[in-house]
Amino acid sequence: MNEPCGLYVHIPFCQAKCPYCDFYSKACNRDEIEHYVNHLVRQMEMYGNLYSDKKFDTLYIGGGTPSVIGTDNLFKIVERAIKSFTFLPFPEITVEMNPCSAKYIDFDKLKFVGVNRISLGVQSANENELHLLGRLHNNNDVTETVSKIHKAGIENISMDLMLGISEQTIFSLQNSIKFCMDNGAKHISAYLLKIEPDTPYQKLAPTLSLPDEDTQADFYEYMQKFLTEKGYRQYEISNFSLVGFESRHNLKYWNCDEYLGIGVSAHSLMNGKRFYFPRDMQSFYNDKTIDDGNGSTEQEYIMLRLRLSDGICFQEYQNLFGKKFPERCLKTAQKYSRYGLVNLQKDRLSLTPKGFLLSNTIIAEMLE
Ligand code: SF4
Repeated sequence: MNEPCGLYVHIPFCQAKCPYCDFYSKACNRDEIEHYVNHLVRQMEMYGNLYSDKKFDTLYIGGGTPSVIGTDNLFKIVERAIKSFTFLPFPEITVEMNPCSAKYIDFDKLKFVGVNRISLGVQSANENELHLLGRLHNNNDVTETVSKIHKAGIENISMDLMLGISEQTIFSLQNSIKFCMDNGAKHISAYLLKIEPDTPYQKLAPTLSLPDEDTQADFYEYMQKFLTEKGYRQYEISNFSLVGFESRHNLKYWNCDEYLGIGVSAHSLMNGKRFYFPRDMQSFYNDKTIDDGNGSTEQEYIMLRLRLSDGICFQEYQNLFGKKFPERCLKTAQKYSRYGLVNLQKDRLSLTPKGFLLSNTIIAEMLE
């Protein structure tokens, strides 16, 4: 809040659709990519004028798989973003990539235009698990890509891992985490595999023998312990980083700071209002956005801040909302602090690493 804004640009193309994914993305097609990128550029110019009074300090190109649109298109998007919006010095500029298409990216060129952070979708370092996820890359693709990124002088690499894949074990999880560390990951995001409605995985679910909730919890706790021992700090429920490598862009979402999302299905929170582009290409080409009510409300602030290990500072809450932190939330916090799930201090409150596992229950009870 009152911090510089983040700019998010969504690329809705992927090499192929992964069977578990429900993000808005589609298999890529050269003509459509060009048309889409040209429209993105026009939108950036338009929103740049609309928000000419705002300062930005992060740009995140996510998807989908932005690396499938190739170096020149990525260059064009970053260049246009920097020209259209007022960026403060030293912005964080991230591009999400998958290891197959990233192999063909010219990282020197991206570094030249300002890209300084790459987020790689590794998911697992075990062949059987990658196969079960329908991922197209192997470990060599990751190693090759990382070496190209490092050669270009980009040090800030984040890697995504997935928890709860069928056939996953503590040993295979450890192998995946070590693989990311050995390949220089400064930041690791770990997401639980969820069976989303209307995905091929939902139909396959009965045959997949996915780990049950207790096993998933064991994986999560193991990962917390292992990464902490190796010097990574868990700063958010699903995110770990070495000191100074937290995602500045993603922190904006959990801090209720402003962000502008451009591209099909992208969400925004600007001037206290939420709005988004619908999940269809035509609406994007027609510049259609949908209002989504007020953002940065007290409830939203509590819900999002408790995802962070720093939690909520009571004084900051009072400064923002002009009232004391609610008594009923404190009562719930006291109850869970007795079980070691909440860390309740005189001036702040946060969930403990164990509490993160039950965050949905605890936060829902606080907001009842
Ligand atoms: S690469 Fe990522 S966004 Fe694309 S289909 Fe797979 S999981 Fe979804």
